[in-house]
Amino acid sequence: MVINDDLLIDPGPDVLAASIRLNVDLAPVQACLVTHPHTDHLEASTFFWRRKGFVATALPLLDVYASSASITRMLQHERREIDPAAIQVRTHTIGAFQRFVVTTGGEIGPDTRFPDGSTTPPQTAARRYVVWTFAASHAEPAIEPLFFAVQQTHGPEAAGRTPTLLYSTDTGPYSEQTWAALARLGGEGLLFDVTVIDSTSGLGPDSRGHMNLRQMAWHQDELGRRGLLAAGARRLAHHFSHNGTPPHEELAAHLAPLDISPAYDGLVVPV
Ligand SMILES: [Zn+2]
Ligand SMILES: [Zn+2]
Repeated sequence: MVINDDLLIDPGPDVLAASIRLNVDLAPVQACLVTHPHTDHLEASTFFWRRKGFVATALPLLDVYASSASITRMLQHERREIDPAAIQVRTHTIGAFQRFVVTTGGEIGPDTRFPDGSTTPPQTAARRYVVWTFAASHAEPAIEPLFFAVQQTHGPEAAGRTPTLLYSTDTGPYSEQTWAALARLGGEGLLFDVTVIDSTSGLGPDSRGHMNLRQMAWHQDELGRRGLLAAGARRLAHHFSHNGTPPHEELAAHLAPLDISPAYDGLVVPV
């Protein structure tokens, strides 16, 4: 998913095809958050093709925030290790229960790959985001699966407000530690305007490494019960599979009484 035009979460295998199909320019993306290294979330070749000689568009330096396992995966291509500098990437190793600030925009360049000035990097608005990480209940702990809260504090969209997203993919029921971390944020007054929660198992049985629709809806409601949802918060289900998830129209009808909408490719959520 892309926040504004400069922050990408999870560079999965279809991100380039989707950007072309949906006419979303990814050249301005300057920061990337990675939840975990499973291949539906992290396609290493997406980064590899940023190398000099392969890209005709001047690209800004990309700050990538990911676990150590995700960074290792990102920098491997055809059994070779990639130098982050060669792909215009700066890596930041993160773990669960951290808070950090991401800044984008402002003055960019010049792009040293184009010393003749034949192409200039895209210019975007200066923005600032605060990111909190949580431990996802998913797969083996060694890959340090994460999910994120992202709050925009500066930039054109944040004039006098702090739009805030919970992006919670590839997780089963939240751990006590994760609920405690969310409660601490709630205690500081944080409210989510948009909540995106894993719904992989659809109408199937309860899951531990993902959620079904019932578990997802319970988590949406629990966020509300714990006072973490802004008035009119947009509640979204996502990360569907073919195992137990009805077609979009049936899914939307199933979720509508719960005030939850199914996400889909190309969905735009104004906040
Ligand atoms: Zn996964
Ligand atoms: Zn996944």
